[in-house]
Amino acid sequence: VSKLAKKSQKRNFRKKIKKVLAIDLGGTKILAAAIDESGRIFDEIKEPVDFSNGVASLIAQIKRLCLPIIKKHAIKKGALASAGPLDPTTGELLNATNFKSAGKSWGRVKIINEIQKKLHIKMSLENDAAAAVLAEHGFGRMRACKNLLVITLGTGLGVGVIANGQLVRSGRNLHPEAGHIVLDHADKQWLCGCGNYGCAEASLSGANFTRNLGQIWHEPHLTGEDLVARAQQNDDKALRVFVEYGSRLAAFMYSMCVLFTPEHIIISGGFSHSYELFLPTTKLRLASLLGTRRVGVDMLPTISISKHQDRAGLLGAAWVAYNRS
Ligand SMILES: [Zn+2]
Repeated sequence: VSKLAKKSQKRNFRKKIKKVLAIDLGGTKILAAAIDESGRIFDEIKEPVDFSNGVASLIAQIKRLCLPIIKKHAIKKGALASAGPLDPTTGELLNATNFKSAGKSWGRVKIINEIQKKLHIKMSLENDAAAAVLAEHGFGRMRACKNLLVITLGTGLGVGVIANGQLVRSGRNLHPEAGHIVLDHADKQWLCGCGNYGCAEASLSGANFTRNLGQIWHEPHLTGEDLVARAQQNDDKALRVFVEYGSRLAAFMYSMCVLFTPEHIIISGGFSHSYELFLPTTKLRLASLLGTRRVGVDMLPTISISKHQDRAGLLGAAWVAYNRS
């Protein structure tokens, strides 16, 4: 066989490998890609979410980004991993906390119906934090771990749980909205996107942590990058807030441990990249909080940073597309 024929054979074989469409929709960015069964990512695109005209501008954006990918890879099905609350069984967003246009929230949106009308392929819906834990379990090194918890630190704070080998849902098909567990009921500093003070998400999601600190310090333009840079230059004030952050994250993890008893916790999302500034504190504090819960069953989990970088939601969406539709 000539070299050329071999090359064309190889190309044809590659074409035959089935791929699905994966979309990860967050409160800031949207990612889309074609993904094959082994988790390889093709033609990934990332953009800021178009919130300019409610759900209409988002659907137009999804159509523009995804139709070329569907065509190129002859895709027949896909899934959307989205920030919640949402119902994966009906494909609806249920007044998603971090999706707002002109200050107004979206209410109930039949997002999967809308997307299917534009893309003409079968689509499924999953919570983005659930997708993140499914990615770690399905494509990651954590395949063998039956009790796994993922904390995503991005625009919001999401938690995905696998217990006894199964994805954990809350009642009414909803996802456990653990980001809105109140860490301090008397708090009047940390304002959450849900309108309450003191939620875990209000002080632990990268976006809220930075925005609320900017308010407290009278620096409205403070960014996460600024904060990390100052801490890396040994600025006392910045180092101190990261230690406090680490300690609060431990209190949140403690609540997760007594509820779900994970053997391992993975931290993912944009803010996980600055783990060196807070994770040592978190580990020490968590071990101390769980002090009396280490006899009989040792409830102290091991903790690591996701190897998927910011692609856990995207990979989880692919896992859902392969396994549910
Ligand atoms: Zn909240």
